[in-house]
Amino acid sequence: MKPILLHAGNPGPYTGDGNWTYLIPGDRPLLIDAGVGHDVHLDAIGAAVPAGPADVIVTHAHSDHAAGAPAIRARWPSATLSKVPWPGRDGEVAWQPLADNEPVPTGAGPLVILHTPGHSPDHIALWHEDTATVFVGDLLQLGTTVFIPASSGGSLAGYLASLERLRQLSPARAWPAHGPVIEEPLALIEHYLDHRRQREEQVLAALADRLATVAAITDRIYRNLAPALQPMARESVLAHLVKLEGEERARREGPSWVVTP
Ligand SMILES: [Zn+2]
Repeated sequence: MKPILLHAGNPGPYTGDGNWTYLIPGDRPLLIDAGVGHDVHLDAIGAAVPAGPADVIVTHAHSDHAAGAPAIRARWPSATLSKVPWPGRDGEVAWQPLADNEPVPTGAGPLVILHTPGHSPDHIALWHEDTATVFVGDLLQLGTTVFIPASSGGSLAGYLASLERLRQLSPARAWPAHGPVIEEPLALIEHYLDHRRQREEQVLAALADRLATVAAITDRIYRNLAPALQPMARESVLAHLVKLEGEERARREGPSWVVTP
């Protein structure tokens, strides 16, 4: 599996250096993730496959992965655009629906769609069994943890289950949408699981100390955080609280959170 790496040309505060998209050449060239429609990206796709991609699969509906689909379709009208549906978020694009475990033929052998919700409800990874390689979208990223937007479709419980599913496959290499290739994905998954366990203990300790609101718990755990980063930190704390609520270990009392005795 030797994909062609094509950068989407979209650095910014939420995307870091910007997004990687992956092109697998063959009879039906496949592009994984659509970028945002910048000319530099479209031109790079055209340089690699002048007739354009036959298929474009996006890992999830977040704009840095999906917003470029209409521009790709405009330049190469025969390209099919596919994703796992996210009703209410998928916009005007006529996406072909993908399903969990669906095989996708490529010039490098089949990929299998793995529905891996958590970062978003529609998130997928694409598994190449022949080489134990996986395209992970926003499931993994070196040097940071993955944001779980609890108020807009994120689920920490779902994310942890998705990490566990990936771990069971023992991937040897992971291609992420952000940052460099991950040569030891199992070590990164372990690190993520440890990190979330520690964070959960911090949230439970804050609740035990009668800190009852997301804001108060966030201030305790993320001391001296720059104001611009506080909304994301609060979403992360909320993601933990919602997970604990689902396990009946915490519950809401009006605007407050309390531990379940
Ligand atoms: Zn995303």
